[in-house]
Amino acid sequence: MIKDLINFGAGPAALAPSILAAAAQAIVNYNNSGLSILEIPHRDGKHFDEILAESKALVLDLAGLSADEYEVLWLQGGGRMQFAMIPMNFLAQDATAGYIDSGFWAHDAQSHALQYGNIETLCSTRESNYTSLPIVPKNISDQLSYVHYTTNNTIYGTQFAQIPECSSPLIADMSSDIFSGQRDYSRYDLFYAVAQKNLGAAGVTLVVVKKNMLDKIVRKLPPILDYKQHALQHSVLNTPPVFGIYVSLLSLRWIQQKGIKNLAAENNAKAEALYKEIERNSLLTAIVAAKNRSNMNVVFNALNEEMEHELIAYCNNNGIVGVKGHRSVGGLRVSLYNAISMAQVQQLITVLKAFENEKK
Ligand code: PMP
Repeated sequence: MIKDLINFGAGPAALAPSILAAAAQAIVNYNNSGLSILEIPHRDGKHFDEILAESKALVLDLAGLSADEYEVLWLQGGGRMQFAMIPMNFLAQDATAGYIDSGFWAHDAQSHALQYGNIETLCSTRESNYTSLPIVPKNISDQLSYVHYTTNNTIYGTQFAQIPECSSPLIADMSSDIFSGQRDYSRYDLFYAVAQKNLGAAGVTLVVVKKNMLDKIVRKLPPILDYKQHALQHSVLNTPPVFGIYVSLLSLRWIQQKGIKNLAAENNAKAEALYKEIERNSLLTAIVAAKNRSNMNVVFNALNEEMEHELIAYCNNNGIVGVKGHRSVGGLRVSLYNAISMAQVQQLITVLKAFENEKK
């Protein structure tokens, strides 16, 4: 039996059926190698080397970057490990990094940095519960060790349309919108994304870093926390999450085959259809103003909390899961990552309409 629920969860998120089938096959017998992907050695100079080489080539191709200029790393420890590694590597004790405080994860990244050096909050919407995006100043100092921001705020459903203008090194957490639309990746000195949203399974984080950043590491670190050591060891400094990286490779192939331009158009159409229904539906209200809305995470409320619980249960009864808002903000949230199809969004819209009719 194959899975039959539609998962609109924010992550671990839905994966395309063809990716799940290929991953399942690889567990049974990887590429007719006679071994499971769970058993293949990571230093045999063969299977895993091919997986790493192809995934690196795909990441660089999708991002429009060159292997001469950028390193592609597959690391463990999730988003929070990057929140820590970035300041450990690039923020000296007497130096200052700039943070754009646009949500819970952006703020958490900033809190991690405080332990290593000084931080300047460049702008923040914390006071208004992050329901809108802060206005990014135009005159960001070029003396900062780096500027960090989160391209898409998964919990609050806000997404930056513009890349901040700055001449200090630019670092971005793209965990919830990487390769979901067109973007000038060459503007970044480092970007990262946990895999469990648009890029595969939990347990692996993609980090793309400009080579010249690796000469700016400010302190002696254990190798496992040092970007340069990971780059020198080509992501096999320790036993890597082979299966997770393979699922990311399958996801990258899938993205490549679809084409980012097509995915961008599809993602916009999916989000537009859902926001339109939320605005039409007499029981629902979108939380974020149109200009700041994310096309990955759509957050909204029903008339009251009790109705939200009812709607979540109603969706569950109709084969739809993952629409509950993040535990810190409540409400409802529908995540529309790459793997979600327009047909699935239409199915959700039909259920939202039926719920409204039932309540009349
Ligand atoms: N950044 C963003 C944008 C996120 O949505 C999340 C949540 N998955 C994280 C970071 C934290 O990731 P992790 O749970 O892997 O630490």
